Amino acid sequence: MPYPNEVAALDALSEWVSHRVRHGGADGERLSTMGVTPTRHTTLTGTVALVTGASSGIGAATASILSHFGADVVLVARRKDRLDAVAAGVEAGGGSALALECDIADTGEAPAAVDKAVAQFGRVDTLVNNAGIMLLGSALDSPLEEWERMVALNVLGTLRVTHARLPHLVRAAEDSPRGVADLVMISSTAGRVARPGAGAYALTKFGIAAFAESLRQELIARRVRVSIVEPGTVDTELVTHLRDDMREAARSQVASIEQLQPEDVADEVAHIVTRDRRVAVNEILVRAGKQTW
Ligand code: NDP
Repeated sequence: MPYPNEVAALDALSEWVSHRVRHGGADGERLSTMGVTPTRHTTLTGTVALVTGASSGIGAATASILSHFGADVVLVARRKDRLDAVAAGVEAGGGSALALECDIADTGEAPAAVDKAVAQFGRVDTLVNNAGIMLLGSALDSPLEEWERMVALNVLGTLRVTHARLPHLVRAAEDSPRGVADLVMISSTAGRVARPGAGAYALTKFGIAAFAESLRQELIARRVRVSIVEPGTVDTELVTHLRDDMREAARSQVASIEQLQPEDVADEVAHIVTRDRRVAVNEILVRAGKQTW
C-alpha cells in the first residue's frame, strides 16, 4: 500500500499536470500576441525513462510525472510491493510501467535490471539516478559501515547504472524524434556546501556533481544531455534511516519550515527533460522556501 502522503502526492500530481496543460496553452496564446515565441516543450511519448529509487519519495513522484508527459517508465528499487503500488498508480493514469526489484548497491544486479528494461521496452531515453541514502553524524561517532553504505549506493550504484545505460542513451538520442536523450542525477545542497556531520554524504554528492560535469562535456557531441538537480530539504523517508539522535536532530532542524514535497523536485526533473533539444538545463538548485542552509 502507498503511504497516505503518497496518495495525496498522486492527487496533487494529477492536479498539477492538468494545471500545466491548461495554463501552458493559455500562456502560449498570450505570448504569441505579444510577439514572443513560446518555448517549445517536447512530449515524452514514445520514450522510455528509467528511475532508480522509484519506490518512494522523489523517485516515485518523478516516475509518475514523466509518465504523465508520455514516457513509459521503468521503476527500480528493492521494495517490490512499493514499486508495484507506484506502477499501479501509473497504469491507473493510462501509463505503462515496469517494476524491477533491484539492489543497485549489488555488483551484478544493476546491469541485469537495465537488460530487462531494454528487453521489455526496446530503448531507454531518460535515466534518472535518484536512489540514495543519507546517514549523518560526526566523523568521530559515525560507524565506518555507514560511510561505506553511502559510497556503495550513492556513488558505486550510480556508476553501475550509468555505465550499463550510457550506450542505450546514445542510441536513443540517435533515433528519437526528440533528437536528444537525458541523464539526470539527483544530487543535493550537500553537493554544493559541506557541513559538519555530513562529510561522507557530501563526499558522495560532490563526487556525483564532478562525474556529471565530465559526462556533460563528453556526451554533448552524442546529443545526451547531462543535468543535476540539487534539492534542499524534502519531506520523504530519507531521514528514517538515520540513527535515533541524528533523526531527531534532522527533524527539529526542519520543524519550523515547510519542506519541499517530492513532486516539487520531480517538477524540476520534468522541466529539464521536456526542453526542446536546443536547450540544456544542466543544473537546478531548489530549496524549501524558508530554508536558510
Ligand atoms: P527516499 O528514502 O524516499 O528514497 C530513496 C530511494 O532509494 C527509495 O526508493 C529506496 O528504495 C531507494 N534505494 C535505497 N537503497 C537502494 C538500493 N540499494 N538499491 C536500489 N534502490 C535503493 O528518499 P528521497 O526520495 O528523499 O531520496 C531520493 C534522492 O534524493 C537521494 O539520492 C537523496 O540523497 C536525494 N535528496 C533528498 C533530499 C531530502 O531532503 N529528502 C534532499 C536532497 C537530496 P528501496 O528502499 O525500496 O530500495
